[in-house]
Amino acid sequence: MEIITAVKGFKDILPQEAGKWRYIEETARKIFTEFGFREIRIPILEKTELFKRGIGETTDIVEKEMYTFLDRGGEYLTLRPEATASVIRAYLEHSLYAADPVARLFTIGPMFRRERPQKGRYRQFHQINAELLGLDDPRIDAEIIIMLIHFLKSVGLSDLSLEINSLGCTECRPPFKESLIGFLQGKEEGLCGDCRRRLITNPLRVFDCKVEQCGEIIAQAPRLLDFICSTCRDHFEVVRESLKTFGLSFDLNTRMVRGLDYYTKTAFEVTAGSLGAQNAIAGGGRYDRLVKDLGGPDIAGIGFAIGLERLISMLPVKDEDFVVVPHLFIAALGGQAQERAFALCNRLRMMGVQTEMDYTGKSLKSQMKRADKLKSRYTLIMGDRELTEGRAELRDMVRGTQETLGLDTLEEVIIDTFRIISKLVDR
Ligand code: AMP
Repeated sequence: MEIITAVKGFKDILPQEAGKWRYIEETARKIFTEFGFREIRIPILEKTELFKRGIGETTDIVEKEMYTFLDRGGEYLTLRPEATASVIRAYLEHSLYAADPVARLFTIGPMFRRERPQKGRYRQFHQINAELLGLDDPRIDAEIIIMLIHFLKSVGLSDLSLEINSLGCTECRPPFKESLIGFLQGKEEGLCGDCRRRLITNPLRVFDCKVEQCGEIIAQAPRLLDFICSTCRDHFEVVRESLKTFGLSFDLNTRMVRGLDYYTKTAFEVTAGSLGAQNAIAGGGRYDRLVKDLGGPDIAGIGFAIGLERLISMLPVKDEDFVVVPHLFIAALGGQAQERAFALCNRLRMMGVQTEMDYTGKSLKSQMKRADKLKSRYTLIMGDRELTEGRAELRDMVRGTQETLGLDTLEEVIIDTFRIISKLVDR
């Protein structure tokens, strides 16, 4: 019978890879906490309406990529394609703003978009999201970017490039939209079907288009940055100055609009080395209208999402760096020895010594082979003969040395040895 495979675009994270994931997640938790952020855990499934209202009806995500289904209760539900809308839903639903409108929140988990699977693009992928609500000071924009870059550097990424842009606000976007429509009219022939439709539904989204011939036309299009109002201009100026003051270099990318409709003012993306511009590791921006659009008070917000698959593909560490090996392998020979080893093995585990043993009753040679294969740091050799002589042999598998231990003190000696070596073998 054929085996059943995973759904296309959905990927397993195997035990040998999980170490990297834990490392990234633990580092994020540590650093984000240092910057005053607190973890929030939100459901994977939400009412479809949340994303339609949040991300925008005419974005690619909502139009083409959501996993939406009609629940048995007659309600449309969607596997979340991003986390910001959910975080804000929780912030509003639990009135987190009532005690203090300022909230620094982060969350880590899977997102779902039915994109065409390709390198660096999956249908289930994982993000770390940070959202900062209740502050509209431009230095906050710089602060969250500083935290993002600090985190990426802390996990070992180098060769990072930061691009920023301002997307303006509801005041300055309409005149730009007019100008963009004016520019694109008459050029419909050269545009792809999607862009022709975007021209009517949501012209700004033409900047998301990945079709080459559209790209050539769009490269000549007016720049949003030239249309932003004085408030947005001043805001952006302080963001840039703050980043410069902090010594963080960046490039201005006037074509960057990001794929979600809710962004206002500052938007940013981080790319790393060989991944290239199509494959940003992280992206984010300010969304000063989103809380209100989702039915809440007029509260500003800014956030970012880091794509974990892409980040992990760029990490300078190897899977082997995270392999967990046993501290001790017990090679027990003979029925009595096995019985004793069974109890010892489980007791040692309870004391924090990672212990393995073999129940097959194979020869010492083959059990030693197994200990080697598992890369166990120590092996305890216990045969029925040793037992009658009241001893066992502790072999240091790295140094190749062997020590005779008395059975009475065996457990304590092993635990003590483990304490001494744990710094060596613990990760
Ligand atoms: P976005 O939520 O679209 O702003 O994306 C933020 C980050 O999530 C991107 O920079 C990517 O690193 C990651 N990302 C978005 N879509 C995918 C995907 N389909 N597969 C893998 N990573 C993704």
